[in-house]
Amino acid sequence: MKDDNSPANDGEPPPSQRLRVWKQFHSAGRGFWRDVSDADWNNWRWQLQHRITTAEQLQKFLPTLTPEEFAGAKLANHKLALAITPYFFNLIDPADEHCPIRLQVIPKVAEMHTASWEMSDPCGEDSHSPVPGLVHRYPDRVLFLVTDRCAAYCRYCTRSRLVSNASGYDFHPEFDRQIGYIAQHPEIRDVLLSGGDPLLLSDEKLESLLGRLRAIPHVEFLRIGSRIPTFLPQRITPELCAMLKKFHPLFLSIHSNHPRELTTEVRDALGRLADAGIPLGNQSVLLKHVNDDAMVMRAHVQKLLICRVKPYYLYQCDLISGSAHLRASVSRGLEIMEQLRGHTTGYAVPQYVIDAPGGGGKVPVNPEYVLCRNAGRVLIRNYEGKIFEYPEAPDGTPTGKPPKEIEEPELV
Ligand code: SF4
Repeated sequence: MKDDNSPANDGEPPPSQRLRVWKQFHSAGRGFWRDVSDADWNNWRWQLQHRITTAEQLQKFLPTLTPEEFAGAKLANHKLALAITPYFFNLIDPADEHCPIRLQVIPKVAEMHTASWEMSDPCGEDSHSPVPGLVHRYPDRVLFLVTDRCAAYCRYCTRSRLVSNASGYDFHPEFDRQIGYIAQHPEIRDVLLSGGDPLLLSDEKLESLLGRLRAIPHVEFLRIGSRIPTFLPQRITPELCAMLKKFHPLFLSIHSNHPRELTTEVRDALGRLADAGIPLGNQSVLLKHVNDDAMVMRAHVQKLLICRVKPYYLYQCDLISGSAHLRASVSRGLEIMEQLRGHTTGYAVPQYVIDAPGGGGKVPVNPEYVLCRNAGRVLIRNYEGKIFEYPEAPDGTPTGKPPKEIEEPELV
């Protein structure tokens, strides 16, 4: 195996150097918007109002736009709208057609191709929806879809049928019916607000919704899933954090895929949320040419911890229609997990999951560390490939010889 300090074959810097570079924090800067006042630039509503939403705007701000991207942007609004905040747009490297930020938000014409195994609702959410906008798939928790809008649109979005309303999906948030269902089901102890992005609601609306949920005695725990901290860190105002703080225990899962998304602005926004006592987790999607590289992933998870965020899930890209060009293989995902576990802090290692196609829920997938197991022993492998024996007994009391490392090269 290549040493972390040895140069790559193609003349690239050694992995350890790339790791250091990716972990540095930079501001997104102002780019084309250098003449905009600080007050406007730091105002989340200004950012939303000035999003890039058309192929022509993209071409103006990104002269290196390829014909495939231009055609994709032209067609985008038939499937999933194009929208990029000026802040996030500034993270795109105009000189790099394969820039990992660009691949996530600039449409390509390949989105219009649907493979035979792809679906519009790959996680089967609609079939587990007792009332519109509520998904009750697991026994003790529900997913509450509070809006169909996002600050920007990810080209691999599992809910592209729903968000941006580009596909004419019939989405009617009916808070009364949704809250009524939760109130009538005492087994629901955990409510995850998602969408779309719940943090696009005004502070007042969000406060009212959280207050109504918190008033239900059996709801123990509230969660928000949001990409706002990375698409629009300006939204994480002190006022928002002060309001959220009233509803503990409240957890927040952010969505970030590449270390370049973790800018100084994002780090500061996440710091404000963490200071408000909100435990933070991150959900990433494994994406081809974005983060399907062990060293990129290692830099990302380590940088998340610096931002006080626990890497929570790494998702295998769902079988959403038009995503084949962005989907990395499960084998690649397992190789990356193998390069994380043991090679970096356990807190930095997310759980790799596949959301079972059609509605089976999240299934953890892991590299194989248990090599064989019977009534008398368990053979395990560590991150270095060394094999050990753990003695086993039916009542849990080990008998026989003490644990040892096994010298059986053919098993390694
Ligand atoms: S932020 Fe989430 S819901 Fe919105 S487009 Fe991205 S993946 Fe989809």
